[in-house]
Amino acid sequence: MSDTIFTRIIKGEIPSHRVYEDDHVFAFLDISPLSLGHTLVIPKEAVERLDQLSDKSAAAIGRVLPRICRAVLKATRATDYNVLQNNGAAAHQVVRHVHFHIIPKYADGSGLGIGWPAKSLDQKKGAELAEKIAKELAG
Ligand code: AMP
Repeated sequence: MSDTIFTRIIKGEIPSHRVYEDDHVFAFLDISPLSLGHTLVIPKEAVERLDQLSDKSAAAIGRVLPRICRAVLKATRATDYNVLQNNGAAAHQVVRHVHFHIIPKYADGSGLGIGWPAKSLDQKKGAELAEKIAKELAG
C-alpha cells in the first residue's frame, strides 16, 4: 500500500497533536473535529481496511482503545461519545489507512450525527445469513 498522510504523521514528517503512542498504535487529534476532543486512533501497520488488519495490530488497538476513550472523556468532561470506523469510499472513508474515530457527543448536539434507516430482519433470511457468516468464521 502506498503511503497515506497517516503514515507520514506516524513518521513525524507531518505534525500532529499526539495523545498516545506505543509500538503498534498511534493516536492524535483530528484536524477537522466534529466536536471537542475528536481523536483518531490508528495502527502503525499501514493497511486500508479493518478486515485487512493483522491480529497483532488488532489486539494492540483493542487493548488501548477503551483507555484512550476514558482519557478523552476525562479531558473534555464529555460523558457520551461515538467510536466510528469507516471502510471504503461509499462508507465515508477518506484516508486509506485504518483508523478509529473517538467523537465526544455534547448536549449542544455537537459530535457525530447519524442517519439510521433501520429495517425489520426477516427471521428466515436472518437464520440463513447467520449460518453463512458463522461458516465463514469457522472455515
Ligand atoms: P475518514 O472519513 O474516516 O477517512 O476520516 C479521516 C479523518 O482524518 C477526517 O476526520 C479528517 O479530518 C482527518 N484528517 C485528515 N488529515 C489529517 C491530519 N493531517 N491530521 C489530523 N487529522 C486528519
